[in-house]
Amino acid sequence: MERVRQRGAYGISYDCDVLVIGGGIVGLSTAYAITRAAPGTRVTVLEKEPGPARHQTGRNSGVIHSGIYYRPGSLKARYAVRGAAEMVKFCAEYGIAHAVTGKLIVATERDELPRLHALVQRGRENGIPVRELGAAQIAEYEPEVRGLAAIHVGTTGICDFVGVAGQLAHASGAEIRYGAEVVRIDRRPALGVAVRLGDGGVVRARVLVNCAGLHCDEIARLAGDEPGVRIVPFRGEYYSLARPELVNGLVYPVPDPAFPFLGVHLTRGIDEGVHIGPNAVPALAREG
Ligand SMILES: Cc1cc2nc3c(=O)[nH]c(=O)nc-3n(C[C@H](O)[C@H](O)[C@H](O)COP(=O)(O)OP(=O)(O)OC[C@H]3O[C@@H](n4cnc5c(N)ncnc54)[C@H](O)[C@@H]3O)c2cc1C
Repeated sequence: MERVRQRGAYGISYDCDVLVIGGGIVGLSTAYAITRAAPGTRVTVLEKEPGPARHQTGRNSGVIHSGIYYRPGSLKARYAVRGAAEMVKFCAEYGIAHAVTGKLIVATERDELPRLHALVQRGRENGIPVRELGAAQIAEYEPEVRGLAAIHVGTTGICDFVGVAGQLAHASGAEIRYGAEVVRIDRRPALGVAVRLGDGGVVRARVLVNCAGLHCDEIARLAGDEPGVRIVPFRGEYYSLARPELVNGLVYPVPDPAFPFLGVHLTRGIDEGVHIGPNAVPALAREG
């Protein structure tokens, strides 16, 4: 498709209306949502890698989270609950591998029980189907798992996020430019933005959306903002379970409030393999 430059106020010519930096799930779903909400809007996505979902999006646990962990009424809770349902619908519509498996959250220590009960409360307030299980009932779902108590969360699922990202890119109708690393941003109030790429090319747009994942703070600074946060890189490593038949679905611990992680979990993926992880290892690089 040939892109035509348009002139705006002050005679500036724009390559597109909205420029999205980052071809992970956030950037591609942003492009998809914009072209759905405002057909005719010209959206360009710039991604430095040769394809979509090469970083967090393509290297995560592959879980469609239910929203059980989030404070009722919060944006996170509302978006997670709605997003989980929309993700399942999107996968079904486009034939992307997925399954609504449900998941277990298992307490193995006494001091975890109050936090497990708090999750039951949260889940129900968020409208999520939650079933409380005594020690003996855990085996109904996972015969090889032992615990003091557990909950079964009905709406958790798994999917192929790389497939989702590829389909979002295609269905958005946006121009997706791979191998396009943003190295400089010139932002003028009321005039829009001009971004310079690593190969020296320039792309002009009315609006810029920063979806650069682990580089989003750098992109914010290039655009003249001070985000007030610093990305401290941690890498999550997974192991493959040698005997995947020991686990039927998804098994999580009760999260420890001392850490901003869900805890090491067992995940049966869409490829039928079972992964254990992630841990959190301080890393020198933000990606890779
Ligand atoms: C170990 C781990 C497990 C997780 N498990 C799950 C899970 O099971 N379920 C779930 O829902 N979430 C999970 N998450 C969270 C989820 O993966 C992320 O929230 C999500 O992928 C973030 O997407 P993103 O598009 O913001 O970032 P990314 O996928 O990292 O995409 C950002 C993109 O921006 C590009 N970019 C950066 N800088 C530039 C630049 N200067 N120019 C051009 N392009 C640039 C990058 O190349 C990258 O492709 C997990 C996260 C981790 C770390």
